[in-house]
Amino acid sequence: MNYYSTNHQSPDATLAEAVVKGLAPDRGLYMPYSIKALPPSFYDTIDTLSFQDIACRVADAFFGEDIPADTLHDIVCDTLNFDVPLVQVSERIYSLELFHGPTLAFKDVGARFMARLLGYFIRKEGKKQVNVLVATSGDTGSAVANGFLGVEGIRVYVLYPKGKVSEIQEKQFTTLGQNITALEVDGTFDNCQALVKSAFMDKELNRHMELTSANSINVARFLPQAFYYFYAYAQWKRQTGGKTPLVCCVPSGNFGNITAGLFGKRMGLPIGRFIAANNRNDIFYQYLRTGIYTPRPSIATIANAMDVGDPSNFARVLDLYGGSHEAIASDISGATYTDEQIAETVRHTWEKHHYLLDPHGACGFRALSEGLRDGETGFFLETAHPAKFKDTVEHIIQEPVAIPAKLQAFMQGEKQSIPMDKEFEAFKQFLMKQ
Ligand SMILES: *Cc1c(COP(=O)(O)O)cnc(C)c1O
Repeated sequence: MNYYSTNHQSPDATLAEAVVKGLAPDRGLYMPYSIKALPPSFYDTIDTLSFQDIACRVADAFFGEDIPADTLHDIVCDTLNFDVPLVQVSERIYSLELFHGPTLAFKDVGARFMARLLGYFIRKEGKKQVNVLVATSGDTGSAVANGFLGVEGIRVYVLYPKGKVSEIQEKQFTTLGQNITALEVDGTFDNCQALVKSAFMDKELNRHMELTSANSINVARFLPQAFYYFYAYAQWKRQTGGKTPLVCCVPSGNFGNITAGLFGKRMGLPIGRFIAANNRNDIFYQYLRTGIYTPRPSIATIANAMDVGDPSNFARVLDLYGGSHEAIASDISGATYTDEQIAETVRHTWEKHHYLLDPHGACGFRALSEGLRDGETGFFLETAHPAKFKDTVEHIIQEPVAIPAKLQAFMQGEKQSIPMDKEFEAFKQFLMKQ
């Protein structure tokens, strides 16, 4: 299947080209030409299928034309080596726990899938080496580094702002070694992102080495996230019979995750409507209210993985709905919360339901609590384990939060990083020597 750019200026791309390029040359995001609906028989029996079986059916609809069935099956099964349980929190609200993967956040799914797909294309096309550049404020770097660890033919450079990520986060991408290099940039996250962008635009550098990004703009990272929306529906149907209208709430930053869910809905997945929960970076919420999209510089919040002032995947949402504000607003509603409200929700949900939310999931839980209409049931995406935000969460509930063994294992490793100036010339010279 071919992919077009949301800016419509670049030529169409094959899946391999879209995955290796990441962003289209006209700076648009790639979209598949068609989104195949799955047959009613699939939805009738979905509650009898395993996560892997469901994901293989969905993956086949996206990628079946481009990848041999047995290869795709192996990539999917290898990606999903952990469960994504749907857990009831209150009478009408369920949590889809996306934090049981290697780095305890939902980005593991997309990162692991993309690493394996890119590895396949590198082998198939006989490429020597592809270099993945990723700027991170925390979670993306750890998911990408761990997802790509040991994949042959790929080198990963993680750029992160010195002193601005938590120790747990830093350990998750600085202790791995092998094909992962951590660059500790003397600057902010925006500086890291600017370095990556400049690298993609530098002709000399691109002649010297093949560069790609592992951001959620990459189709191989964002599409696989659809898998767990289908699995959530299957579990809900199994647990409840699935009679009431179902609402899905997604704590959103760059809007890759919710866009994957909207693709699922387009494929016939019976989710009635979506809620996009924002922190104070509420650009999408304001768009829903006014019909005008006004990006702003991001502001720091305690749900920091959602501190995005100009969500990249908004271009995909707009494209999916033919640019119609009315159509978007009829499928998606919004919510926005301050740090105080997020903290209050973490505390209250812990006290009342004995369920410990992380600050991102708290936005999701609260938006459902306030937004469910009569007769509806809802699930929110619990996007990370609360222990990833240990200090914040402990401060809120005034109790210690245990660190899962998986996370503890990272803490044993020794940090290895290369100091990097925030000026592009220094970064370029470093890459030219690789
Ligand atoms: C990345 C991230 C988000 C935001 O997801 P988007 O796809 O960028 O909207 C939410 N919560 C956590 C924990 C994240 O790491």
